[in-house]
Amino acid sequence: MIDDKRLFDLIQQEDKRQKRVINLIASENYVSRAVLKALGSTLVNKYAEGYPGKRYYGGNNLVDEIENLTKLRALNLFKLDPRKWQVNVQPYSGSPANMAVYLALVPPGEKIMGMELSMGGHLTHGHRVSATGRFWKQVAYGVDKKTERIDYDALKVLAKKEKPKLIVAGFTAYPRRIDFKKFRQIADACGAVLLVDMSHIAGLVAGGVHASPFPYADIVMTTTHKTLRGPRAAMIFSHSMFSSLIDKAVFPGLQGGPHINQIAAVATALHEASQSAFKTYAKQTVVNAQALASELKKLGWRIVSGGTDTHLLLVDTWARGVSGAAASDMLECEGIIVNKNTIPYDTRTPADPSGIRIGTAAVTTRGIKEKDVVRIAQKIDAILLHKIKDKTR
Ligand SMILES: *Cc1c(COP(=O)(O)O)cnc(C)c1O
Repeated sequence: MIDDKRLFDLIQQEDKRQKRVINLIASENYVSRAVLKALGSTLVNKYAEGYPGKRYYGGNNLVDEIENLTKLRALNLFKLDPRKWQVNVQPYSGSPANMAVYLALVPPGEKIMGMELSMGGHLTHGHRVSATGRFWKQVAYGVDKKTERIDYDALKVLAKKEKPKLIVAGFTAYPRRIDFKKFRQIADACGAVLLVDMSHIAGLVAGGVHASPFPYADIVMTTTHKTLRGPRAAMIFSHSMFSSLIDKAVFPGLQGGPHINQIAAVATALHEASQSAFKTYAKQTVVNAQALASELKKLGWRIVSGGTDTHLLLVDTWARGVSGAAASDMLECEGIIVNKNTIPYDTRTPADPSGIRIGTAAVTTRGIKEKDVVRIAQKIDAILLHKIKDKTR
């Protein structure tokens, strides 16, 4: 064993930090011991370029079984017919997975329609600072200024005018239910492929507390480390007619050897998500987010779109004179971790926006219930309004 005390001290300290804080980062979670064990297994030693049965390296019989098992579990979890749907479990993470989808289906220079970053979209939905915005042209959509929700009629008009090749539905900071059926109609109205990026809500879909995108989407991408509570990785589900293009785009188009330890950890997380306890978890996660939103509202905070249907909410802290960065810093001093976030039609900058994003996926894993969430909301209120005396730290 190599003695690396310095590094392992740091890891241990981080482990302690994760246990000490109240983690309200909407995209984070706490994985199980089993997931950690798969991630830290000797599978990390193996090269397996290619796909099961078609590898470029020897010694992959067991790896083939692992990848096939992962695929089967993924299809089963979302109740998909393997004659209609395929899944690629090799993407290293969400960003390269979206890149692979575009590489497979959208010729360079063509249009991708995605939500604007400042309204809740993801960088990889065609934002100009992302490679996806360099190689493709983004047709940006937002939310309605008044309701702060998606205006599906406005989207249809935009799609018919711009004729994008692909439409992305799925967001990083949109607290409301997504109507996939309407997105299908919009895609059909302009002949676009419909990609649902369910990275944030995959666990809610698996747990039955958000509608499934599968009856409507051509492609469904998800990360596996947010509400799904697995390792950092991603999966791309596709209708059979697209699947060989997707496979070629992931490897050899974009990636090299798959991370087999990561794929095995995904298999573990998928197994966990198929248990009935996970349904209870998903339900509680949403209940907690709603309780948090309603308590903050009671305390006078403006919640973007008036509430939430999911695991996350956006608080317009600037409405009470506290910027997003200030709010995030003040909360962190008291052991509550959130992220600063733009709100729709933000008048401030991304570096110091008008709001914070709060999510309940991680704290719910730790067993927190509504009554605890009410106390968290009161604590947030007290911290942001300086009702707590500065402690000497
Ligand atoms: C998190 C996220 C991604 C990117 O995932 P990474 O693993 O961070 O690359 C892509 N799309 C959406 C909607 C996300 O929320």
